[in-house]
Amino acid sequence: MNVFTHSPTTEHTFNGKHFYLKRDDLLHPQFSGNKARKLMTLLDAPLPHIKTLISYGSPQANSLYSFAALAQLRGWQFEFYVDHIPQWLREHPQGNYKAALALGATIYPTGQHPTLAMHPQDYIRHVRCPDESCLVLPEGGRSDLAQPGIAALGDEIIIWCNQHQIQHPVVALPSGTGTTALYLHQHLAAHQIEVLTCACVGGESYLKQQWDMLAATSYPTILSLSQKHHFGKLYREDYMLWLNLCREAQVEFDLLYDPLMWRCLQQWLPAHPDTPLIYIHQGGLLGNVSMQARYQRKYADLPPPHRLR
Ligand SMILES: *Cc1c(COP(=O)(O)O)cnc(C)c1O
Repeated sequence: MNVFTHSPTTEHTFNGKHFYLKRDDLLHPQFSGNKARKLMTLLDAPLPHIKTLISYGSPQANSLYSFAALAQLRGWQFEFYVDHIPQWLREHPQGNYKAALALGATIYPTGQHPTLAMHPQDYIRHVRCPDESCLVLPEGGRSDLAQPGIAALGDEIIIWCNQHQIQHPVVALPSGTGTTALYLHQHLAAHQIEVLTCACVGGESYLKQQWDMLAATSYPTILSLSQKHHFGKLYREDYMLWLNLCREAQVEFDLLYDPLMWRCLQQWLPAHPDTPLIYIHQGGLLGNVSMQARYQRKYADLPPPHRLR
């Protein structure tokens, strides 16, 4: 394996509960979080014929930035296809979008043309027509390519638990595609380590569908709230929890995925007081810039966040 592994594990408390935090946000200044873990095999795979990395998704996605960082580290060109770039983002580049552009990404909108509007995936296939010098990756890195990098994360957790004599912990991390949680579960199940997750995008049945597409034979444990929770929507409870969590733990968490996982954990933890908790910090902090601005506008009565950066 390469140098971008072995992130530190730190100790914190939140609402009186002690927990360990696996700091994958600190893997590397640009190439960090679970996207880096998922793409890790591509960092040192011998791919002499590849000159261009191609993918698609949201112009604000954490994966956009991680793809751009990977391409820069490998000396590849990087093309990213999106449906559209919101006007405010084009006029005021920020977060993952701005950082990806600074790393040399070229971002193409494909969905807005009056007569030729296409889904980015169709555009890549039928108009871009990648040749053998191109490496095309699925949205968000949802691919079995991710397995070895996540397995390496699992190994680090197992070794750390042995060193610190942590017995039967649970590992918690929120899911988007669920790729990280599933591969981690597959790696840790044999060591009697349970993986807890929650479905941030599209609910529990969508998450199980994603896992089935990765040929899952068993699933991580899904925690959920009683009310429906929509991805990217601004919830007062999420923002309040996030403000308290960041202040108490003295670490900035992601604002898109982490609040839901912690809200689910607040319900789960009281019934499991003696189970050690290892939370995975999956990065994504650049995406906080615009999320936080939206939250502060919407809930202007809440105190501004404690400065951590
Ligand atoms: C992408 C991402 C996730 C979701 O990861 P999946 O492997 O798609 O489930 C969670 N948290 C952060 C910060 C992310 O960037």
